[in-house]
Amino acid sequence: MPQQLNRQTLERLMQYYLCINRDFDPQGNQTIPSARLAQLLSLDGTQIRKDLAAIGVKGQCRVGFEISRVAEAIRKALGFENVFRAVIIGAGHLGGAIAAYEGFARYGLQVVALFDIDPGKIGLNVGHHVIQPLEKLEFVIKDRDVHLGIITVPADAAQECTDRMVKAGIKGIWNFSPVNLKIPPEIISRHEDLSVGLAYLSYHLTHNG
Ligand code: NAD
Repeated sequence: MPQQLNRQTLERLMQYYLCINRDFDPQGNQTIPSARLAQLLSLDGTQIRKDLAAIGVKGQCRVGFEISRVAEAIRKALGFENVFRAVIIGAGHLGGAIAAYEGFARYGLQVVALFDIDPGKIGLNVGHHVIQPLEKLEFVIKDRDVHLGIITVPADAAQECTDRMVKAGIKGIWNFSPVNLKIPPEIISRHEDLSVGLAYLSYHLTHNG
């Protein structure tokens, strides 16, 4: 079994991956010294070398890292070459935006269905999806072997939706509702809150702006 990577390492690997895809050709044969990558990301070069070594990538003295090898190793380590089937519960502003955004496909996310309880929304199209009634949730999770449930319902509905997905056999939950959900430990989950990013901006605008 490969080395277990902690959350901070995973997040830094994703930053390297985004940087490589934004500023370089991830398929080309360019190289980059860790000091340059460190400068681009305002990180420490030693940390970058350590993170990349953890996924089996070693730089060459005075040359640095082969960009295509770094990109491939990160894709493999983070599992982007796999496909993760997902359902979204709550076809409102946020759920609709996630469903319509095609960019997550490059990380393996495949949204197979979008659910809501609002009769005025059921049957409408969002991107390539038709909004389905919540009654079909369990059937779709089992029938399509869905791995991930994405929660974009109001706070008061989030726990019940979670419980239903867990019972239906979901493996992971990506929770956008502002609720600390009770989720069994064997299910991988992530609570996403954009205000964490906003707090970073707020801090710097307050103290350095
Ligand atoms: P919205 O009102 O536009 O959408 C919510 C949708 O959920 C509606 O279509 C509603 O009909 C549906 N819904 C309600 N109860 C349901 C149930 N039991 N089952 C299925 N569908 C149900 O709201 P929004 O702006 O899209 O926000 C959705 C959630 O995401 C809220 O909890 C909000 O606080 C949260 N949010 C989080 C972030 C973040 O950074 N994490 C950012 C924006 C919104």
